[in-house]
Parts: sequence; structure tokens; C-alpha cells
Amino acid sequence: MPSLIALVTRLSKPAEEAWLTSLRAAMPAETILPIGDMSGAELERAEIAIVANPDPADLNRLPNLKWVQSLWAGVERLVLELEGFAPPIVRLIDPRLAETMAEAVLAWTLYLSRDMPAYGAQQRDRVWKQLPYRAARDTRVGLLGLGELGSAAAEKLLLAGFDVAGWSRTARELPEIRTFSGAQGLDEMLSQSDILVCLLPLTAETTGLLGTRQFERLPEGAGFINFARGKIVRTDDLMAALDKGRLKHAVLDVFETEPLEEGSPLWSHPGITVLPHISAPTNQSTAAKIAAANIAAFRASGMLPDGIDFARGY
Ligand code: NAP
Repeated sequence: MPSLIALVTRLSKPAEEAWLTSLRAAMPAETILPIGDMSGAELERAEIAIVANPDPADLNRLPNLKWVQSLWAGVERLVLELEGFAPPIVRLIDPRLAETMAEAVLAWTLYLSRDMPAYGAQQRDRVWKQLPYRAARDTRVGLLGLGELGSAAAEKLLLAGFDVAGWSRTARELPEIRTFSGAQGLDEMLSQSDILVCLLPLTAETTGLLGTRQFERLPEGAGFINFARGKIVRTDDLMAALDKGRLKHAVLDVFETEPLEEGSPLWSHPGITVLPHISAPTNQSTAAKIAAANIAAFRASGMLPDGIDFARGY
């Protein structure tokens, strides 16, 4: 009996249907079934699961599961909910997603470096006032995270003329970028970042990583962009740093709770731009092709792909 692929999600019915269509188009020779539609015999034939916010209990219904392909780049929820899970879990690594994120990093870095929030406020108040200009080459951008997304963002920022630095867990070398690692490296990079961009995964180590102490290391009047996860930042500390003028402006695309609660003070803070998690939307068609390529490689070689590292959390 040929093996099947189970689609395991907690998405809405229409969202799951849309994924099913893209996935079936990307691998027409495979049989992909939503787990809710599978018979007992079909559950036994599934060696691969494609998942998006899966219920762990559903995955446990697949006795012959060999590995799991996630449709998301971020895996903190899987790490939390599937602790001790044996089959490898492969996250989505999609160059298209990295390109989209790099474009967002460039757009919002320019928004901060060219003082767009201040000019917007001036227009609302009918104020005609030219603010000091700082060229891209004189603007130091510090990237937290130099993985798939961070390194793509670094490349785009360099092309636009920014002075780029990056911080990672292990030491890395990238052309034309000042690189830092470890706790001391973080302090060093912060002190040299006019704009700080967060592209870290949410892990035990990065939860609450950015608070008063870190914001105080930044040059006076620095800008901050969080495109990673809300819980990496201590929100009260961020607001205090903005109120004190330590930070000039923050662009937030991710929050502890999403959607951001209607009563959140972040909505109306003059130093904060709120975005509704739009920095890098998943492209279903390219994501399905990446999943299809991973599955084709497994079918051809029989080798299990490398999964996420539960101990490091990403
Ligand atoms: P990745 O390829 O795994 O890269 C993660 C980077 O962070 C690596 O450079 C890693 O260091 C570094 N890192 C991890 N833990 C660290 C620590 N404790 N201290 C210092 N550096 C640390 O991940 P990615 O694909 O770039 O994605 C990053 C995150 O972006 C995802 O986890 C997800 O949460 C978020 N994301 C957001 C959106 C959105 O729309 N807002 C979309 C997609 C993804 P090493 O290089 O040493 O491993």
C-alpha cells in the first residue's frame, strides 16, 4: 500500500481547504488527506504529516509517522506543545518568505531613518520644519538574528547603503557586516545600533530578552523594529524607554497577544507604529513547493530530513 500524507491543522475549514489545494497542486502524485477525513487504515498508512498549528493529539493518531513538515517558519508553538516528540519536525525555509521579510525590514528601516513618523505628526499639526538628515551610510542598523531572515535582511540593507551589524547565538561571518555573538556581543552591538531590528526565534533564551537594560545600551534616540515575536520584548520597558526619549520610535508587527487587544496602550502611543503581523506573510504556493521538494527528496532517498532542535528551541 503506498504511503499517505496527513494534513493536520487547527486552521479554519476554508484556510485548510486553501492549503490542501496548493499542496495537491505542488505534488500531484501524492495523496494528501486532512486527518479528520482519514479512516483507521489510512491513518496507519501515513508516514508524513504536513502541519499548521496541529493538535498534538491528532499527531498521536498516526502510528507510522516518520517525519513532519511544518508550514510555518516559526516553531515556538511546536517546541512547546510537542516536547519529547520523536519524529523530526522540519520547519518552512522559503527564500520567498526571506525576500518578503527583507523588503519589510528595508521599508520600515527607511521609515525610521527618514523620520517619517515625525513628519506624519508634523503634518497633522500643520508644522513646517525640516529635521536633520542622516544618510543611510551613516545609519547603523543592528540585526538581532542572522538566520534565514536576518541574513536576507542584511543583504538588502547593505544594497541600500546602510551600515549593518548582526548578532547570532553562534559566531558567524558574513561579508561586509560587523558580526557579534554571546551576551557581551549583544551589549557591543546595541551600543552601535541607531536602528535595532529583531528577527530572533522565540525560545527560552530569547523570551523577555529585550528590556530596560538593553534599551539603555542603545544610542539616545534609537529606533526599534520587532518583526519576530512579541514575547521577546518586555512591553512595559519598551514604553518606558520611549517615554524617556531613550528610544525615538518603535515599529511593532508582533505582540504577546494577537490580534492586539482593543484596550492596549500600544495603539495610541505616539512613539509606536502598530502593524497587524504583515511583515512577511507566507506565500502558499511557494511554501507548498518547498514542502513538495522536501517530500520528493525523502521519497527518493528514504533519508529522514533534519528537524528542529528541541534543546535549543529553534
Ligand atoms: P533561523 O534561520 O533559525 O535564524 C535564527 C537566528 O537567530 C540565528 O542567527 C540564530 O543564531 C539566532 N538566535 C537564536 N537564538 C539566539 C540567542 N539565544 N541569542 C542570539 N542569537 C540567537 O530563523 P529565521 O527563519 O531567520 O526566522 C526567525 C524568526 O522570525 C522565526 O522564528 C519567527 O518567529 C519569525 N518570523 C516572523 C514572521 C512575521 O511575519 N513577523 C514571519 C516569519 C518568521 P545561530 O545563527 O547561531 O543559530
